[in-house]
Amino acid sequence: MKRLLSRRNLQWLREVAARKVLLAFDFDGTLAPIVAEPGAARMRERTARLLEQVCRLYPCAVISGRGRRDVAGRLGQARVKYVVGNHGVEVDGSDAPYRSTMARAVTSLERGLATVQGVELEDKGSSISLHYRRARRPNQARSQILQALQVLPGPTRIVPGKFVINVLPFGAPHKGDALLALRDASRAEAALYVGDDVTDEDVFELRQPGRLVTVRVGASRGSSAEYYLRHQREIDLLLEVLVAARAAGARVGETRE
Ligand SMILES: [Mg+2]
Repeated sequence: MKRLLSRRNLQWLREVAARKVLLAFDFDGTLAPIVAEPGAARMRERTARLLEQVCRLYPCAVISGRGRRDVAGRLGQARVKYVVGNHGVEVDGSDAPYRSTMARAVTSLERGLATVQGVELEDKGSSISLHYRRARRPNQARSQILQALQVLPGPTRIVPGKFVINVLPFGAPHKGDALLALRDASRAEAALYVGDDVTDEDVFELRQPGRLVTVRVGASRGSSAEYYLRHQREIDLLLEVLVAARAAGARVGETRE
């Protein structure tokens, strides 16, 4: 993995910014810091302001594990062109076919986890998040969740995250599929994607040199991302670089006229 904002890579990043590029971001842990109470997650003011500016200069997408409406409500004034929820499953109501399978899974998990301390089931319609950040014994809670998942009625895909286990409909589009569809829809030549967690690996694993720049928040040896930001706060610096690159480009364009 290479540091995205190293001096050497900054110049290259400005070249990427000059192309027809779609910018796409995960939300929790990427645009917003991770917090103990998922309902309280929000962008810092500075990030929100920069995202607003970036959205005026580039086509932008947010692809989150949250429900689409939930994440859309956390983007402040930014005019994000594409908002995708449920880890890539939920684009404009496209998740309808998966809802009944997931509703059956919710019923089964509510029964299976009723007596497990510190586990919170979040029903997001077309995916489920089982949070165990608040459990007194997180490891034990995690293994009890995994046990409950073994008896689910329908086919599902289980993806662990940071103090959360996500249950997704089997065979549904993932974040990587969503990103490729949006890159086409926006007629961009390339996309830059930033994420921090396990479901973001569905994007990182696409490996499309020249057409996709993958960035992970936090270096990690196990990740397929090419680049990393050192920590979540560096998202501000990245957004600043992207704003400055296009603003400079716009000025050059103006002087030509
Ligand atoms: Mg995340």
